[in-house]
Amino acid sequence: MQYISTRGETGRMGFRDAVMTGLAPDGGLMIPARIPAEKDRMKAWADLSYRDLAFEVFRLFTDFPDGDLHALIHDSYTGFRHPEIVPLVRAGPNHILELFHGPTLAFKDIALQFLSNLFENILEEREGRLNILGATSGDTGSAAIHGVRGRSRIRIFMMHPHGRVAALQERQMTTVLDGNVFNLAVEGTFDDCQRIMKGIFEDLTFKDQHALGAVNSVNWARVLAQIVYYIHAALRIRKSEGVDRVRFAVPTGNFGDILAGWYAMRMGAPISRLVLATNENDILARFFNSGTYCAGGVIKTVSPSMDIQVASNFERYLYYRVGEDHDRLRNLMDEFRISKSITVEPKEGETVDPSIVAGVGTTEQTLATIRENYENYGYILDPHTAVGVHVAKSFPDDNEPMICLATAHPAKFPDAIRQATGETATHDLLEGILNAPARCVTLANDIKAVRKYIDTHAG
Ligand SMILES: *Cc1c(COP(=O)(O)O)cnc(C)c1O
Repeated sequence: MQYISTRGETGRMGFRDAVMTGLAPDGGLMIPARIPAEKDRMKAWADLSYRDLAFEVFRLFTDFPDGDLHALIHDSYTGFRHPEIVPLVRAGPNHILELFHGPTLAFKDIALQFLSNLFENILEEREGRLNILGATSGDTGSAAIHGVRGRSRIRIFMMHPHGRVAALQERQMTTVLDGNVFNLAVEGTFDDCQRIMKGIFEDLTFKDQHALGAVNSVNWARVLAQIVYYIHAALRIRKSEGVDRVRFAVPTGNFGDILAGWYAMRMGAPISRLVLATNENDILARFFNSGTYCAGGVIKTVSPSMDIQVASNFERYLYYRVGEDHDRLRNLMDEFRISKSITVEPKEGETVDPSIVAGVGTTEQTLATIRENYENYGYILDPHTAVGVHVAKSFPDDNEPMICLATAHPAKFPDAIRQATGETATHDLLEGILNAPARCVTLANDIKAVRKYIDTHAG
Protein backbone atom coordinates (compact mmCIF):
# COMPACT_ATOMS: atom_id res chain seq x y z
CA MET A 1 0.00 0.00 0.00
CA GLN A 2 1.21 3.48 -0.87
CA TYR A 3 0.39 6.54 1.23
CA ILE A 4 -0.50 10.06 0.13
CA SER A 5 -1.00 13.35 1.96
CA THR A 6 -4.47 14.84 2.33
CA ARG A 7 -3.03 18.07 0.92
CA GLY A 8 -1.61 16.41 -2.19
CA GLU A 9 1.77 18.16 -2.16
CA THR A 10 3.88 15.36 -0.69
CA GLY A 11 5.17 12.48 -2.81
CA ARG A 12 3.77 8.99 -2.33
CA MET A 13 5.54 6.84 0.23
CA GLY A 14 5.35 3.36 1.71
CA PHE A 15 3.88 2.42 5.08
CA ARG A 16 7.13 2.63 7.05
CA ASP A 17 7.96 6.12 5.85
CA ALA A 18 4.39 7.25 6.49
CA VAL A 19 4.72 6.00 10.09
CA MET A 20 8.10 7.66 10.65
CA THR A 21 6.95 10.97 9.08
CA GLY A 22 3.90 11.51 11.28
CA LEU A 23 2.67 14.84 9.92
CA ALA A 24 3.23 15.12 6.14
CA PRO A 25 5.85 17.68 5.02
CA ASP A 26 3.09 19.69 3.26
CA GLY A 27 1.24 20.06 6.57
CA GLY A 28 -1.35 17.40 5.70
CA LEU A 29 -2.02 13.95 7.13
CA MET A 30 -0.90 10.69 5.55
CA ILE A 31 -3.66 8.38 4.31
CA PRO A 32 -3.70 5.15 2.29
CA ALA A 33 -3.83 5.78 -1.47
CA ARG A 34 -6.98 3.65 -1.61
CA ILE A 35 -9.28 1.99 0.91
CA PRO A 36 -9.35 -1.80 0.47
CA ALA A 37 -12.87 -3.18 -0.19
CA GLU A 38 -13.16 -6.40 1.81
CA LYS A 39 -16.91 -6.96 2.15
CA ASP A 40 -16.67 -10.44 0.65
CA ARG A 41 -14.17 -11.57 3.27
CA MET A 42 -16.19 -10.50 6.31
CA LYS A 43 -17.90 -13.86 6.62
CA ALA A 44 -14.59 -15.70 6.65
CA TRP A 45 -13.17 -13.22 9.14
CA ALA A 46 -15.99 -13.75 11.65
CA ASP A 47 -14.29 -16.67 13.40
CA LEU A 48 -10.82 -15.16 13.71
CA SER A 49 -9.24 -14.29 17.04
CA TYR A 50 -8.37 -10.63 17.62
CA ARG A 51 -4.72 -11.21 16.73
CA ASP A 52 -5.54 -13.22 13.59
CA LEU A 53 -7.93 -10.55 12.40
CA ALA A 54 -5.32 -7.86 13.12
CA PHE A 55 -2.94 -9.81 10.90
CA GLU A 56 -5.43 -9.88 8.00
CA VAL A 57 -6.22 -6.17 8.33
CA PHE A 58 -2.63 -4.94 8.80
CA ARG A 59 -1.50 -7.00 5.84
CA LEU A 60 -3.69 -4.91 3.58
CA PHE A 61 -2.04 -1.67 4.68
CA THR A 62 1.60 -2.62 5.31
CA ASP A 63 4.46 -4.37 3.57
CA PHE A 64 6.05 -6.42 6.35
CA PRO A 65 7.01 -10.04 5.79
CA ASP A 66 4.34 -12.30 7.37
CA GLY A 67 6.67 -13.49 10.12
CA ASP A 68 7.52 -9.93 11.20
CA LEU A 69 3.89 -8.92 11.18
CA HIS A 70 2.88 -11.90 13.34
CA ALA A 71 5.63 -11.03 15.81
CA LEU A 72 4.65 -7.34 15.89
CA ILE A 73 1.03 -8.22 16.64
CA HIS A 74 1.95 -10.81 19.21
CA ASP A 75 4.23 -8.41 21.10
CA SER A 76 1.74 -5.55 20.95
CA TYR A 77 -1.07 -7.41 22.71
CA THR A 78 0.75 -9.57 25.27
CA GLY A 79 0.50 -6.71 27.79
CA PHE A 80 -3.31 -6.93 27.73
CA ARG A 81 -4.82 -8.49 30.80
CA HIS A 82 -7.83 -10.18 29.23
CA PRO A 83 -7.59 -13.34 27.08
CA GLU A 84 -9.93 -11.83 24.47
CA ILE A 85 -7.93 -8.55 24.46
CA VAL A 86 -11.12 -6.53 23.74
CA PRO A 87 -14.01 -8.36 25.45
CA LEU A 88 -17.69 -7.51 24.92
CA VAL A 89 -20.04 -7.34 27.90
CA ARG A 90 -23.72 -6.55 28.14
CA ALA A 91 -25.10 -3.61 30.14
CA GLY A 92 -28.87 -3.23 29.65
CA PRO A 93 -29.66 -2.34 26.04
CA ASN A 94 -26.01 -1.90 25.05
CA HIS A 95 -23.07 -4.09 24.24
CA ILE A 96 -19.98 -2.59 25.85
CA LEU A 97 -16.69 -3.12 24.03
CA GLU A 98 -14.00 -2.94 26.73
CA LEU A 99 -10.91 -1.43 25.16
CA PHE A 100 -9.15 -0.73 28.46
CA HIS A 101 -7.32 -3.94 29.36
CA GLY A 102 -3.89 -2.65 28.32
CA PRO A 103 -1.10 -1.47 30.64
CA THR A 104 -2.47 2.05 31.24
CA LEU A 105 -6.17 1.12 31.31
CA ALA A 106 -7.20 3.31 28.36
CA PHE A 107 -7.97 2.44 24.75
CA LYS A 108 -4.90 4.36 23.57
CA ASP A 109 -2.79 1.34 24.56
CA ILE A 110 -4.22 -0.59 21.61
CA ALA A 111 -2.59 1.79 19.15
CA LEU A 112 0.44 2.94 21.13
CA GLN A 113 1.67 -0.55 22.00
CA PHE A 114 1.54 -1.35 18.27
CA LEU A 115 3.14 1.95 17.22
CA SER A 116 6.03 1.45 19.66
CA ASN A 117 6.71 -2.03 18.28
CA LEU A 118 6.56 -0.63 14.75
CA PHE A 119 9.07 2.09 15.61
CA GLU A 120 11.42 -0.47 17.07
CA ASN A 121 11.13 -2.80 14.08
CA ILE A 122 11.77 0.02 11.61
CA LEU A 123 14.66 1.47 13.66
CA GLU A 124 16.33 -1.93 13.92
CA GLU A 125 16.14 -2.36 10.18
CA ARG A 126 17.45 1.14 9.49
CA GLU A 127 19.89 1.06 12.41
CA GLY A 128 18.37 4.33 13.50
CA ARG A 129 17.32 5.99 16.73
CA LEU A 130 14.39 8.11 17.71
CA ASN A 131 13.74 10.77 20.33
CA ILE A 132 10.03 11.17 20.86
CA LEU A 133 8.79 14.54 22.03
CA GLY A 134 5.21 14.82 23.24
CA ALA A 135 2.84 16.99 25.26
CA THR A 136 0.02 15.47 27.24
CA SER A 137 -2.77 16.30 29.61
CA GLY A 138 -3.10 12.65 30.65
CA ASP A 139 -3.90 9.43 28.77
CA THR A 140 -1.75 9.81 25.64
CA GLY A 141 1.41 10.47 27.62
CA SER A 142 1.13 7.44 29.83
CA ALA A 143 0.13 5.10 26.98
CA ALA A 144 3.10 6.34 24.91
CA ILE A 145 5.54 6.01 27.83
CA HIS A 146 4.37 2.48 28.61
CA GLY A 147 4.69 1.61 24.92
CA VAL A 148 8.35 2.62 24.57
CA ARG A 149 9.75 2.04 28.07
CA GLY A 150 12.98 0.05 28.10
CA ARG A 151 13.54 0.15 24.32
CA SER A 152 17.16 0.71 23.38
CA ARG A 153 16.72 2.78 20.22
CA ILE A 154 14.04 5.10 21.57
CA ARG A 155 13.97 7.84 24.18
CA ILE A 156 10.81 9.67 25.11
CA PHE A 157 10.49 13.24 26.41
CA MET A 158 6.94 13.77 27.62
CA MET A 159 5.87 17.23 28.79
CA HIS A 160 2.90 17.72 31.05
CA PRO A 161 1.69 20.90 32.75
CA HIS A 162 3.18 20.96 36.26
CA GLY A 163 0.52 20.33 38.93
CA ARG A 164 -2.33 20.33 36.43
CA VAL A 165 -2.64 16.64 35.58
CA ALA A 166 -4.88 14.40 37.72
CA ALA A 167 -2.76 12.68 40.39
CA LEU A 168 -3.33 9.14 39.13
CA GLN A 169 -2.54 10.03 35.54
CA GLU A 170 0.58 11.94 36.51
CA ARG A 171 1.76 8.95 38.54
CA GLN A 172 1.10 6.54 35.67
CA MET A 173 3.80 8.51 33.82
CA THR A 174 6.28 9.48 36.51
CA THR A 175 6.52 6.08 38.22
CA VAL A 176 7.97 4.57 35.04
CA LEU A 177 11.66 4.56 35.99
CA ASP A 178 13.24 3.15 32.81
CA GLY A 179 16.28 5.11 31.75
CA ASN A 180 14.83 6.02 28.33
CA VAL A 181 11.81 7.82 29.83
CA PHE A 182 12.04 11.54 30.65
CA ASN A 183 9.03 13.17 32.27
CA LEU A 184 9.12 16.94 32.03
CA ALA A 185 6.75 18.95 34.23
CA VAL A 186 6.54 22.35 32.56
CA GLU A 187 5.56 25.30 34.75
CA GLY A 188 2.65 26.32 32.55
CA THR A 189 -0.60 25.02 31.02
CA PHE A 190 -1.19 22.20 28.54
CA ASP A 191 -1.40 24.81 25.79
CA ASP A 192 2.07 26.07 26.79
CA CYS A 193 3.39 22.49 26.46
CA GLN A 194 1.86 22.18 23.02
CA ARG A 195 3.26 25.54 21.96
CA ILE A 196 6.75 24.49 23.08
CA MET A 197 6.41 21.20 21.22
CA LYS A 198 5.33 22.93 18.03
CA GLY A 199 8.15 25.45 18.31
CA ILE A 200 10.73 22.71 18.68
CA PHE A 201 9.38 20.68 15.75
CA GLU A 202 9.41 23.78 13.55
CA ASP A 203 13.17 24.07 13.99
CA LEU A 204 13.99 21.53 11.29
CA THR A 205 17.74 21.57 11.97
CA PHE A 206 17.20 20.68 15.62
CA LYS A 207 14.55 18.12 14.65
CA ASP A 208 16.94 16.36 12.24
CA GLN A 209 19.94 16.62 14.52
CA HIS A 210 18.10 14.73 17.27
CA ALA A 211 15.88 12.50 15.09
CA LEU A 212 12.81 13.90 16.83
CA GLY A 213 9.54 12.04 16.29
CA ALA A 214 5.94 12.34 17.44
CA VAL A 215 3.36 9.89 18.74
CA ASN A 216 0.26 12.06 18.57
CA SER A 217 -2.91 10.84 16.94
CA VAL A 218 -2.07 12.18 13.47
CA ASN A 219 0.15 9.10 13.04
CA TRP A 220 -1.60 6.77 10.58
CA ALA A 221 -0.53 3.63 12.49
CA ARG A 222 -2.72 4.72 15.40
CA VAL A 223 -5.81 4.83 13.20
CA LEU A 224 -4.89 1.55 11.55
CA ALA A 225 -4.55 -0.33 14.86
CA GLN A 226 -8.03 0.81 15.87
CA ILE A 227 -9.79 -0.40 12.72
CA VAL A 228 -9.39 -3.98 13.95
CA TYR A 229 -11.64 -3.78 16.99
CA TYR A 230 -14.52 -2.29 15.01
CA ILE A 231 -14.49 -5.17 12.53
CA HIS A 232 -13.92 -7.75 15.27
CA ALA A 233 -16.81 -6.54 17.45
CA ALA A 234 -19.20 -5.99 14.53
CA LEU A 235 -18.65 -9.54 13.27
CA ARG A 236 -19.04 -11.09 16.72
CA ILE A 237 -22.30 -9.26 17.47
CA ARG A 238 -23.70 -9.85 13.99
CA LYS A 239 -23.24 -13.55 14.55
CA SER A 240 -24.40 -13.79 18.16
CA GLU A 241 -27.47 -11.59 17.63
CA GLY A 242 -28.34 -12.86 14.15
CA VAL A 243 -28.55 -9.33 12.69
CA ASP A 244 -27.34 -7.83 9.41
CA ARG A 245 -25.61 -4.77 10.77
CA VAL A 246 -24.61 -3.10 14.03
CA ARG A 247 -24.01 0.46 15.24
CA PHE A 248 -21.23 1.93 17.36
CA ALA A 249 -21.38 4.77 19.90
CA VAL A 250 -17.99 6.49 20.13
CA PRO A 251 -16.91 9.07 22.72
CA THR A 252 -14.87 11.51 20.67
CA GLY A 253 -12.12 14.10 21.16
CA ASN A 254 -9.54 14.17 18.38
CA PHE A 255 -11.70 12.16 15.93
CA GLY A 256 -9.06 9.39 15.88
CA ASP A 257 -11.11 6.56 17.31
CA ILE A 258 -14.26 7.24 15.31
CA LEU A 259 -12.24 7.72 12.12
CA ALA A 260 -11.06 4.11 12.47
CA GLY A 261 -14.73 3.08 12.62
CA TRP A 262 -15.41 5.06 9.50
CA TYR A 263 -12.58 3.23 7.65
CA ALA A 264 -13.95 -0.12 8.92
CA MET A 265 -17.35 0.80 7.49
CA ARG A 266 -15.78 1.80 4.16
CA MET A 267 -13.88 -1.51 4.06
CA GLY A 268 -17.22 -3.33 4.20
CA ALA A 269 -17.67 -4.22 7.88
CA PRO A 270 -21.36 -4.72 8.75
CA ILE A 271 -21.80 -1.31 10.39
CA SER A 272 -24.81 0.85 9.53
CA ARG A 273 -24.01 3.90 11.57
CA LEU A 274 -21.59 5.58 13.92
CA VAL A 275 -22.92 7.63 16.81
CA LEU A 276 -20.46 10.42 17.54
CA ALA A 277 -20.59 11.59 21.16
CA THR A 278 -18.87 14.63 22.64
CA ASN A 279 -18.93 16.36 26.01
CA GLU A 280 -19.54 20.13 26.24
CA ASN A 281 -16.58 20.58 23.88
CA ASP A 282 -18.94 19.88 21.02
CA ILE A 283 -17.32 21.23 17.85
CA LEU A 284 -17.66 17.82 16.14
CA ALA A 285 -21.27 17.24 17.20
CA ARG A 286 -22.16 20.69 15.90
CA PHE A 287 -20.46 19.93 12.59
CA PHE A 288 -22.39 16.72 11.94
CA ASN A 289 -25.65 18.39 12.91
CA SER A 290 -25.19 21.65 11.02
CA GLY A 291 -22.31 21.41 8.53
CA THR A 292 -20.37 24.19 10.26
CA TYR A 293 -17.03 23.40 11.93
CA CYS A 294 -16.33 26.31 14.24
CA ALA A 295 -13.85 26.37 17.14
CA GLY A 296 -14.78 27.67 20.59
CA GLY A 297 -12.91 27.78 23.92
CA VAL A 298 -12.03 24.59 25.80
CA ILE A 299 -14.30 23.76 28.75
CA LYS A 300 -13.12 21.53 31.62
CA THR A 301 -15.34 18.44 32.10
CA VAL A 302 -15.38 15.06 33.89
CA SER A 303 -14.15 13.43 30.64
CA PRO A 304 -10.82 15.30 30.31
CA SER A 305 -9.45 13.26 27.39
CA MET A 306 -12.22 14.73 25.27
CA ASP A 307 -11.68 18.36 26.35
CA ILE A 308 -10.50 19.27 22.87
CA GLN A 309 -11.76 21.86 20.42
CA VAL A 310 -9.79 21.37 17.23
CA ALA A 311 -9.74 17.66 16.34
CA SER A 312 -6.41 16.78 14.76
CA ASN A 313 -7.79 13.83 12.74
CA PHE A 314 -10.77 15.68 11.30
CA GLU A 315 -8.75 16.66 8.23
CA ARG A 316 -8.65 13.03 7.11
CA TYR A 317 -12.42 12.75 7.24
CA LEU A 318 -12.91 16.11 5.57
CA TYR A 319 -10.72 15.03 2.64
CA TYR A 320 -13.10 12.17 1.85
CA ARG A 321 -16.15 14.33 2.57
CA VAL A 322 -15.10 16.84 -0.14
CA GLY A 323 -14.73 14.05 -2.69
CA GLU A 324 -10.97 13.39 -2.26
CA ASP A 325 -10.25 16.79 -3.74
CA HIS A 326 -6.84 17.96 -2.44
CA ASP A 327 -7.28 21.55 -3.62
CA ARG A 328 -10.68 21.96 -2.04
CA LEU A 329 -9.38 20.43 1.21
CA ARG A 330 -6.38 22.77 1.22
CA ASN A 331 -8.62 25.77 0.73
CA LEU A 332 -10.90 24.70 3.57
CA MET A 333 -7.95 24.17 5.93
CA ASP A 334 -6.58 27.62 5.01
CA GLU A 335 -9.98 29.14 5.60
CA PHE A 336 -10.22 27.42 8.99
CA ARG A 337 -6.78 28.65 10.00
CA ILE A 338 -7.77 32.23 9.27
CA SER A 339 -11.43 32.43 10.31
CA LYS A 340 -11.68 29.43 12.72
CA SER A 341 -14.85 28.37 10.91
CA ILE A 342 -15.74 26.41 7.78
CA THR A 343 -18.98 25.03 6.35
CA VAL A 344 -19.74 21.95 4.27
CA GLU A 345 -23.20 22.02 2.69
CA PRO A 346 -25.23 18.82 3.08
CA LYS A 347 -26.81 17.41 -0.09
CA GLU A 348 -30.47 18.32 -0.67
CA GLY A 349 -32.64 16.53 1.92
CA GLU A 350 -29.67 14.85 3.61
CA THR A 351 -27.59 15.41 6.72
CA VAL A 352 -23.85 16.13 6.52
CA ASP A 353 -23.15 12.38 6.52
CA PRO A 354 -25.94 9.80 6.59
CA SER A 355 -23.59 7.29 8.23
CA ILE A 356 -22.69 9.50 11.22
CA VAL A 357 -25.17 10.88 13.74
CA ALA A 358 -24.02 13.04 16.63
CA GLY A 359 -24.96 14.34 20.05
CA VAL A 360 -23.65 15.82 23.30
CA GLY A 361 -23.51 14.50 26.88
CA THR A 362 -23.12 17.23 29.51
CA THR A 363 -21.33 16.64 32.82
CA GLU A 364 -24.67 16.27 34.60
CA GLN A 365 -25.95 13.77 32.00
CA THR A 366 -22.66 11.86 32.13
CA LEU A 367 -22.84 11.44 35.90
CA ALA A 368 -26.54 10.47 35.69
CA THR A 369 -25.69 7.82 33.06
CA ILE A 370 -22.95 6.34 35.27
CA ARG A 371 -25.40 6.20 38.20
CA GLU A 372 -28.20 4.69 36.08
CA ASN A 373 -26.01 1.92 34.60
CA TYR A 374 -24.63 1.10 38.02
CA GLU A 375 -28.04 0.95 39.71
CA ASN A 376 -29.87 -0.85 36.91
CA TYR A 377 -27.22 -3.19 35.53
CA GLY A 378 -24.44 -3.26 38.15
CA TYR A 379 -21.91 -1.98 35.58
CA ILE A 380 -19.65 1.02 36.22
CA LEU A 381 -18.87 3.14 33.15
CA ASP A 382 -15.91 5.52 33.07
CA PRO A 383 -16.97 9.14 32.34
CA HIS A 384 -15.80 9.03 28.68
CA THR A 385 -17.67 5.82 27.98
CA ALA A 386 -20.71 7.29 29.72
CA VAL A 387 -20.82 10.22 27.27
CA GLY A 388 -21.19 7.68 24.45
CA VAL A 389 -23.78 5.62 26.30
CA HIS A 390 -25.79 8.78 27.02
CA VAL A 391 -25.82 9.93 23.40
CA ALA A 392 -26.67 6.38 22.22
CA LYS A 393 -29.99 6.70 24.10
CA SER A 394 -31.13 9.35 21.62
CA PHE A 395 -30.95 6.83 18.76
CA PRO A 396 -33.03 3.81 19.79
CA ASP A 397 -33.40 1.03 17.21
CA ASP A 398 -34.58 -2.50 18.04
CA ASN A 399 -33.16 -4.04 14.89
CA GLU A 400 -29.59 -2.89 15.03
CA PRO A 401 -27.57 -3.58 18.20
CA MET A 402 -25.58 -0.72 19.73
CA ILE A 403 -21.95 -1.36 20.63
CA CYS A 404 -20.66 1.33 23.00
CA LEU A 405 -16.89 1.74 23.08
CA ALA A 406 -15.53 1.70 26.64
CA THR A 407 -12.40 3.81 26.31
CA ALA A 408 -11.07 3.79 29.89
CA HIS A 409 -11.32 1.77 33.08
CA PRO A 410 -13.47 3.61 35.67
CA ALA A 411 -10.72 3.34 38.31
CA LYS A 412 -8.78 6.00 36.39
CA PHE A 413 -11.46 8.54 37.32
CA PRO A 414 -12.30 7.81 40.98
CA ASP A 415 -13.67 11.28 41.78
CA ALA A 416 -16.33 11.18 39.07
CA ILE A 417 -17.27 7.60 39.97
CA ARG A 418 -17.61 8.48 43.65
CA GLN A 419 -19.70 11.52 42.81
CA ALA A 420 -22.01 9.48 40.57
CA THR A 421 -22.35 6.24 42.53
CA GLY A 422 -20.85 6.69 46.01
CA GLU A 423 -18.56 3.74 45.17
CA THR A 424 -14.77 3.61 45.06
CA ALA A 425 -13.62 2.21 41.72
CA THR A 426 -10.27 0.42 41.99
CA HIS A 427 -7.84 -1.57 39.85
CA ASP A 428 -4.79 -3.44 41.10
CA LEU A 429 -2.54 -1.74 38.51
CA LEU A 430 -3.28 1.59 40.20
CA GLU A 431 -2.94 0.46 43.79
CA GLY A 432 0.04 1.89 45.61
CA ILE A 433 0.90 4.06 42.62
CA LEU A 434 0.45 7.30 44.58
CA ASN A 435 3.25 6.28 46.98
CA ALA A 436 5.55 4.55 44.51
CA PRO A 437 8.97 6.07 43.65
CA ALA A 438 8.70 8.59 40.81
CA ARG A 439 11.07 10.47 38.52
CA CYS A 440 10.29 13.80 36.88
CA VAL A 441 12.11 17.08 36.30
CA THR A 442 10.44 20.46 36.54
CA LEU A 443 11.32 22.93 33.79
CA ALA A 444 10.53 26.61 33.26
CA ASN A 445 7.72 27.46 30.85
CA ASP A 446 10.27 28.32 28.22
CA ILE A 447 11.15 26.66 24.91
CA LYS A 448 14.87 27.24 25.58
CA ALA A 449 14.75 25.24 28.81
CA VAL A 450 13.10 22.26 27.07
CA ARG A 451 15.48 22.44 24.10
CA LYS A 452 18.47 22.50 26.40
CA TYR A 453 17.15 19.48 28.29
CA ILE A 454 16.69 17.50 25.07
CA ASP A 455 20.12 18.57 23.83
CA THR A 456 21.71 17.11 26.95
CA HIS A 457 19.64 13.91 27.22
CA ALA A 458 18.76 12.86 23.66
CA GLY A 459 20.01 9.46 22.48
C1 LIG B 1 -8.27 9.84 23.90
C2 LIG B 1 -9.52 9.39 24.59
C3 LIG B 1 -10.79 9.56 24.00
C4 LIG B 1 -10.99 10.29 22.68
O1 LIG B 1 -10.45 9.60 21.59
P1 LIG B 1 -10.19 10.38 20.20
O2 LIG B 1 -9.48 9.42 19.35
O3 LIG B 1 -9.34 11.57 20.57
O4 LIG B 1 -11.51 10.78 19.68
C5 LIG B 1 -11.88 9.05 24.67
N1 LIG B 1 -11.77 8.42 25.87
C6 LIG B 1 -10.57 8.25 26.45
C7 LIG B 1 -10.52 7.58 27.78
C8 LIG B 1 -9.40 8.72 25.84
O5 LIG B 1 -8.21 8.54 26.44
